[in-house]
Parts: sequence; structure tokens; C-alpha cells
Amino acid sequence: MTERSYRQITRRKSRKIMVGPVAVGGDAPISVQTMTNTRTSDVEGTLDQVRRAAAAGADIVRVSCPDEDSTAALKAIVKGSPVPIVADIHFNYRRAIEAAEAGAACLRINPGNIGSVERVREVIQAARDHNCSMRIGVNAGSLDKHLLEKYGEPCPEALVESALEHARILEDNDFREFKISVKASNVFMAVAAYRGLAAACDYPLHLGITEAGGLTRGTVQSALGIGALLWEGIGDTLRVSLTADIAEEVKVGFEILKALDLRHRGVKIISCPTCARQGFDVVKTVETLEKRLAHISAPVTVSILGCVVNGPGEARETMIGVTGGGVGADRNRVYLEGVSDHNVGGAEMIDHIVELVEAKARALDAA
Ligand code: SF4
Repeated sequence: MTERSYRQITRRKSRKIMVGPVAVGGDAPISVQTMTNTRTSDVEGTLDQVRRAAAAGADIVRVSCPDEDSTAALKAIVKGSPVPIVADIHFNYRRAIEAAEAGAACLRINPGNIGSVERVREVIQAARDHNCSMRIGVNAGSLDKHLLEKYGEPCPEALVESALEHARILEDNDFREFKISVKASNVFMAVAAYRGLAAACDYPLHLGITEAGGLTRGTVQSALGIGALLWEGIGDTLRVSLTADIAEEVKVGFEILKALDLRHRGVKIISCPTCARQGFDVVKTVETLEKRLAHISAPVTVSILGCVVNGPGEARETMIGVTGGGVGADRNRVYLEGVSDHNVGGAEMIDHIVELVEAKARALDAA
């Protein structure tokens, strides 16, 4: 076994498509997406969410376009957005054409649900004319009737069959600039569907566990489902669906990627669960640091450990490490690049760590 080979993930070979300037699939970094929940016709409100998502690291943001007011607002949203915008369309081919014309980078649309062959052709033509890719988004909660009749209930095979049916419509029109998702709220079903789809085609896959729940439950569900797939090398872009603030979805998405060493963004804090040995208040320190370091996008690793039991060992693996010096000692040891360096008292510690991390981030950004 080569050093750390147990950590390596071999990614499935997929086609590369573009969502605006963001590559999805092939050897592109796994992108993180989220979705706004404002009325899309509210340009300022939507742009505010888009900007917050982008500040949290989102590579791509999706907005729903349920009506003409939404697609009419899209042009200003696309113009003001720092990241490419995906227009979420259901059934109405006119909305899809309007969205492509308004500058959407990608259409989330299922071509089998928009009616005649002629309408499909018109949407594809609009996508071609405006450099717009597509996402086929199959969901266990809205499976096509004929598949529900065939399989009796939503199941992985039905999700895969539905996705391939929609894909065939685009292929028949010689359009291959699309990615696919097969989402379900049940982790087993979603994982099995994505595995089946990954084996059946080489299109890039957009991962997600849909309707996953609130922050805690949704994070666990997503980490299990999306994490299991990424671990197998499946997945090119992802959205963590949470009944929570838009920035939380992005944060959790990156935490999943960080945990699997697939992509690093922002500060990764390793911290202990604390016990009676802690030399300082580790919980409060980490809570404060997470807030104060949220603006850092460089991949800085930090370890915050309450005492010398595990502190020096974890500090060896991180760029900046702090280990408590013992109960009441008010002398905490700072490690830089794994090497024991100097002491810091409790009162100055947080400011000191923030300064060290910011300096490290500047150095990484400049490198
Ligand atoms: Fe307790 Fe020290 Fe372990 Fe933290 S590192 S949990 S303080 S023994």
C-alpha cells in the first residue's frame, strides 16, 4: 500500500459539460450548488440570496422559473450574479426558451414533460443558440405515470429508466450537453439509482438527496447518500437539500467534499469533543473561530485540542494547531506546520489564531 492510498478515490469517467464558465464532469472539480427560495420575480431579494450563496462558496445557483414574471426577472439576476444561474423549469417549454434567452447557463428541464417533438426541438435550439446546457432532473416523488404503472412504486430501476428516456430525447436531437440527477428522499433508493445510472451512461451526474430535512437530519442524510456515492467515485456536482438557510447547504456540501479529500475550501477545524482535561473552553473557542473565519476561502487546516493527550498528534497533521496546557495553566501551546512553536494565553488566543489563519490564507492565495 502506498502512503495514504487508502484515502484515494478514483472518479468515474464522465463527459464534461459547461454551466456557464463552470465545467461539470470529466476532471473538473466537483462543484457545489444551491437554490434560492425567494420569488424569482423579486430581483433584489433573489440576488441577495445568490450573492450570499456565492460568498459561502457556491459555484452555481439555481432559481425556479414558474411563471413569465420569473423569466422576465432572470436577465437582471444573471447580470448581477457572480456565479452561473440555472433556471428550474417544469412542463412549460416557453419558460425554458425565455430562460435561455435571458442568459441562464443551464436549464433544469425534463424534455419528456414538455409536450411535442417540435417544442423539444425549439427548447434545444434556444439552448444551442445561447450556450445553455441542461439538467435532466428525475425525482422519486414525481415519476412519470407509465413508469409508476410499470414498477408499481418509485424504485431505483424506475428512476434510471426515466432518466434514460429523457436523455434519449436529447440524444435523438443530437444534444449531449447535459447532466442528470435521480433524486429520492430515501437514501438507499437514491444511492442505488445513481449507481445504476453511473453504470448505464457517461453523462455527468448531479448528486442530491431530496427533501432531506432540516439542518441536522438533512446533513446526516446527505452525508450518507452523497458521501457514499462520492466515495465510490460517482458524482460531478452536488446540491445538499436542507430546510435551512441557503448558505448552510453550501457549507455542508463543502464539508462532505472536505471529509473525502475531494475538494478543499475554507478553514477545516479539527477539534476534540472536550472533557475534564481541557485547558480552555474548546467548545466556545471553536464556535467563535468558525464565525470569525467564515470569510476565508483558502484551504487552511487548524486543530484545536483541549490538552496534550491528542493535541500534539493532531497538530502534526494541520497547518496551525493549539493544545491546552493543562487545567488552570492559561498557557496553550501553538504549533505551526506541525512543529511546536510558542505559547499563548487564553485571553489572546482567539485573536491570535485568527491572525495566524489569515496570514496563512494570504500566503496560500499568493502561492
Ligand atoms: Fe479531553 Fe484532551 Fe481529548 Fe480534548 S484532547 S477530549 S481535552 S483528553
